[in-house]
Amino acid sequence: MAHCISEKMFGLTQRNSAVREMFEEGNRLAAIYGRENVYDFSLGNPNFPAPEKVREAVFDVLKTEPSSMVHGYMPNAGYPDVREAIACSLNSRFGTSFGVNNILMTVGAAGSLNVIFKTLLNPGDEVLALAPFFLEYKNYVENFEGVLTVVPANTNGFQPDAEAIGKAVTSKTKAVIINSPNNPTGVIYSSETIKSIAAVLNSKQEEYGHPIFIISDEPYRELAYDGVDVPWLTKLYRNTIVAYSWSKSLSLPGERIGYLVIPSEIDDYALIFDAASIANRILGFVNAPSLMQRVVMRCLNEKTDIGAYDSNRKMLYNALKEAGFECAYPQGAFYMWVKTPCDDKEFSSLAKKYNILIVPGSSFACPGYVRIAYCVSPQTIEGAIPGFRKLAEELGLKQ
Ligand code: PLP
Repeated sequence: MAHCISEKMFGLTQRNSAVREMFEEGNRLAAIYGRENVYDFSLGNPNFPAPEKVREAVFDVLKTEPSSMVHGYMPNAGYPDVREAIACSLNSRFGTSFGVNNILMTVGAAGSLNVIFKTLLNPGDEVLALAPFFLEYKNYVENFEGVLTVVPANTNGFQPDAEAIGKAVTSKTKAVIINSPNNPTGVIYSSETIKSIAAVLNSKQEEYGHPIFIISDEPYRELAYDGVDVPWLTKLYRNTIVAYSWSKSLSLPGERIGYLVIPSEIDDYALIFDAASIANRILGFVNAPSLMQRVVMRCLNEKTDIGAYDSNRKMLYNALKEAGFECAYPQGAFYMWVKTPCDDKEFSSLAKKYNILIVPGSSFACPGYVRIAYCVSPQTIEGAIPGFRKLAEELGLKQ
């Protein structure tokens, strides 16, 4: 019988996200073996709680601010005082000069990306994603009839290769997505890397006579270890738009709160800002969650406990290396990117035998690797280590 949903959505129901499938598999295994015996490294869902200050801010806002202010409609771009406070905070951190009309509050980074693609894309416009990447980008671009072009990974260190990006740019390229600290590799793109990409894009803009935007997707900006610098892109490439969220930086993924930075220096700034506010409205978001806007305004200097992620990072890295796995020491985010000695899907399916759930690199357009999300409890890592060792033995990694 013919189905009554759209062809596009029917296609999506037939290929569910591998990350989500793994998450559901985790729930199934937990029902059989008990939650404590299942080592679920599949989802980037922060295990560490939001800072206490966030909870205090929620109560404080509810107690002290008028209901109409906390729960009412506001401009589609968000509360002006919240946007002003964010602009000031960015200015003091990065030496920029943003104002209220450079910040647009969104429903998380996913909301930011959908708003900006709705704003920029005509059907057939191309958006470049640098493998490996968060595969939802493809859906977000295709939501607006855009075409996602994959730039192959630079497997030698996973810093993007500017030359490969240059080769992928065509007359239809509208934007390039940059995600650093990166999901899934944990790599932070250096300022040399960004400058080389900026040089290529500047010359391509000139060649084609139209802007090519960098969309800097930054939900992991605050998760950088050992004092490694995360370059601020608007200073390195004029046509940069930043998509930020507090999902990971303050462990608030369910609250759906983030923002876009739309600098005044970009081409067609006023039109883009106006159109993005309309996009926020007509995509049905209307505005970012009101209570959360008031809360994050009070928490701009708050930080999650990066020390806890750092200690997970060390424990997992040491255990994997000792077992014989090949992986780079991540500089940021909370993902370990491990080379697989066999097909990556086969590898993650073998890992399930030991109740370990990890996501194959194919799900990030980069087969031959797996992603292990270590935003879990230390006990989950400890419990999984014997399984990782057995897996390594089974695959003949260490005699
Ligand atoms: N971008 C990347 C690279 C992500 O990893 C995620 C979530 O995991 C998102 C965007 C979406 O973030 P948010 O929950 O803020 O929408």
